Amino acid sequence: MQEYIEEIAKSSRAALPEFEKRKTLSFEDVKEYIKHFAGEIKLKNTEHSEVRKNKDGTFIIFLNENLSEEERIKSALHELGHVFLHWESVPGVDEEGLALNDADIIDLKEVSATYFVRAFLMPKFLFLQSVFESTYHNICNYKKISQDFKVDEYNVISRGKDLNLWE
Ligand SMILES: [Zn+2]
Repeated sequence: MQEYIEEIAKSSRAALPEFEKRKTLSFEDVKEYIKHFAGEIKLKNTEHSEVRKNKDGTFIIFLNENLSEEERIKSALHELGHVFLHWESVPGVDEEGLALNDADIIDLKEVSATYFVRAFLMPKFLFLQSVFESTYHNICNYKKISQDFKVDEYNVISRGKDLNLWE
């Protein structure tokens, strides 16, 4: 599963070559990606972000309008992760709510979508480069990496674990 998500994140990130080698993406950049994959983003007064599909294969990501730029980026990519990884269970625009699934499966879906966000925002080759540049005498400066990618340190540590760089 992990390798599969890495591949999806890598190839989708590479879909816009002008952004591929950038360590940080703005919300506008992320919108470009979503557009590229035939989706659109709508900000609204909603508690939870969610994705819905249209019959023609396009999709809409609804985001809470009060989210910060960083949270918008993460939430939009999380929903894009669901599009790539679990399209069959993305509800239609006119459906009531999420189909009731087995709780474990929902959890696995959430974990995979969150993994996708890290892999997309911190592509392996850029991440390894940043770790290399931020490590002195075997001590890795997570804070510097988190500044490089504009994500919090928790996500940096998780990404290092994803890539088996540390425990
Ligand atoms: Zn989710």
